[in-house]
Amino acid sequence: MSLAKTDFKIVVFLGAPGAGKGTQAAGVAQEMHMTHLSSGDLFRQAVERGDELGMKVKSFMERGALVPDEITIQMVLERLEQRGEQRGIILDGFPRNLAQAESLDKALSAGPYENVDVAVYISVEQPELIKRLSSRWLCRQCQTPYNYDGSKGAVSACAKCGGELYQRPDDAMETVLKRLEVYFRDTVPVIEYYKQRGTLAEVDGGGDVEDITARIVKAIGDSK
Ligand code: AMP
Repeated sequence: MSLAKTDFKIVVFLGAPGAGKGTQAAGVAQEMHMTHLSSGDLFRQAVERGDELGMKVKSFMERGALVPDEITIQMVLERLEQRGEQRGIILDGFPRNLAQAESLDKALSAGPYENVDVAVYISVEQPELIKRLSSRWLCRQCQTPYNYDGSKGAVSACAKCGGELYQRPDDAMETVLKRLEVYFRDTVPVIEYYKQRGTLAEVDGGGDVEDITARIVKAIGDSK
């Protein structure tokens, strides 16, 4: 079955590290029957496997630096081609700079979907970002995030699947600050890029997770 352009949406999630892109992309994808494609998760899985890709990207991730464009763009575009019979794709963590945004547009313009339908920018103030990142724990198995600031005893297992909880090595304070610097330098121009194309939807990333999900679902529904 081939899907008509109007049946299928290409959605980009933008926002600083800690803005809640991963959590929201997972929730929105489930609610809207879309595929969630996270470049960071794909890289982390490769590092866990210790394969060739993992070995190439490990040191960049540990430093909080961006993985080089030629590696990232190829990986994401390959995955885009494998899309299933869903209602669309949410790209979480990609594009992260202007070169990636332009490569994505070029690749899409050659296929049936033409362009990004909506870029959802989840906005959160910087002090809140740092607070969230330094108290973030993730399930090693299903990636569900938990918030833990050290005040309430030991961290237990994942409530969803029983998996072990861990803190991302790149959530250490020094690396968090580096990732924020990279974000302001390289990724903020991507917000302007989509704004100029009339595809940007800014969503307030504060408050309850469910409320933020509802705002994003509405923004995607309102697009074209
Ligand atoms: P994330 O889970 O999105 O915070 O990504 C974690 C790390 O993976 C980043 O700090 C980068 O090292 C790498 N990464 C993820 N997405 C990209 C991307 N689009 N371009 C370059 N590096 C990326």
